[in-house]
Amino acid sequence: MKALRYHGARDVRVETVPDPQLADARDMIVKVTACAICGSDLHLYDGLIPTLQKGDVLGHEFMGEVLEVGREVRDVQKGDRVVVPFNIGCGDCFFCKRQLWSLCDRSNPNAALATKQFGAAPAGLFGYSHMFGGYPGGQAEYVRVPFADINHFKVETDLSDEQVLFIGDIFATGFMAVDVCDVQEGDVVAVWGCGPVGLFALKSAHMLGAKRVIAIDRFPERLELARTKCDATPIDYEKSDVIEVLKELTSGRGPDICIDAVGMEAHGHGLEFWYDRVKQAVGLQADRPTALRQAVMACRKGGTVSVPGVYGGPIDHFPFGAAFNKGLTLKMGQTHTHRYAPALLQRIAAGEIDPSFIITHRLHLEEAPKGYDIFQHKKEGCIKVVLRP
Ligand code: NAD
Ligand code: ZN
Repeated sequence: MKALRYHGARDVRVETVPDPQLADARDMIVKVTACAICGSDLHLYDGLIPTLQKGDVLGHEFMGEVLEVGREVRDVQKGDRVVVPFNIGCGDCFFCKRQLWSLCDRSNPNAALATKQFGAAPAGLFGYSHMFGGYPGGQAEYVRVPFADINHFKVETDLSDEQVLFIGDIFATGFMAVDVCDVQEGDVVAVWGCGPVGLFALKSAHMLGAKRVIAIDRFPERLELARTKCDATPIDYEKSDVIEVLKELTSGRGPDICIDAVGMEAHGHGLEFWYDRVKQAVGLQADRPTALRQAVMACRKGGTVSVPGVYGGPIDHFPFGAAFNKGLTLKMGQTHTHRYAPALLQRIAAGEIDPSFIITHRLHLEEAPKGYDIFQHKKEGCIKVVLRP
């Protein structure tokens, strides 16, 4: 089959690799009909994840048709149309039973590697390096999905792939980022980053009852989409003093909820440890403020900072004293996709939201390297790339 493989920082190629096979009686094989490039893939693309190896197949946002199931699979069968969550749950461990799906204790066969880095291992992820289990990803024609009964969301409606694909990652991620903040009546929610995750956080903030939402980025087309499709007040962080503008918009207090939907793509400040790697790999400039630091500094006393943006290493200059002395609540982590996706699918089916509004580029899988390049550099007004094998 054809699949997108990593060859080094900013070097990905579509190549022929062996078709995946059932490796366990609980596995299924999915024939991919649509997949996407995620902001998280850009951390891999930038060479920020040291346990990624040359030849690894990338991609964790995908859906398709079930081609084959192992003999112990009960809840899904050949021919079913499914979206697959980006993180792999077993359904039966301490964490899965508590709905903490992204922390599954059984799906990461390389838990020792992650434990060394983080003290404990998160769940296995598709296409996300050996620290996260080394599973081949979904930017491919076929994928092996472990614990098939658990790791699928069946799509039985006539909704298009583009409408449902994002429940497996970025829509659930934007939604959880807000849901964990327990929005109260009258709350103002500010979101750093108007990429796909930030845009879904803005949409979700409205769904969950925010009075006002504010969007922060520097790309005009992203800010414009936030304004027109997410009813957000835009702030260009290159043209304004973000913290001052946020104060003006909130009677001097600051937003009740601040969401960092940027992560370590944050071009620099504070991420020196990881950033050195990027600078060496691709020569970026370390000249922009971090979203996370601003979110903590801007948040009102007693407010909540939620971090869906991905971080991997230590962060220097994190203003922990500000968080402490303002009595902030911090929320973060990989998305518990399984907890959210079914309800989000219902909202889509009910016509409450059409997630395809973020798609700007539709490419063939063969064009995935171009997709990475334009998404990384936000060229051609790129907001989201969907690939079709
Ligand atoms: P993206 O690259 O399209 O969007 C990031 C946006 O942040 C860009 O528009 C960029 O201009 C903006 N930005 C950069 N620095 C900024 C700053 N200082 N202030 C304000 N905006 C700034 O990526 P995406 O797909 O939207 O993903 C965003 C983040 O979410 C990534 O870190 C990704 O890894 C993460 N993510 C996390 C999960 C999870 O489980 N928690 C799941 C999916 C994605
Ligand atoms: Zn993702």
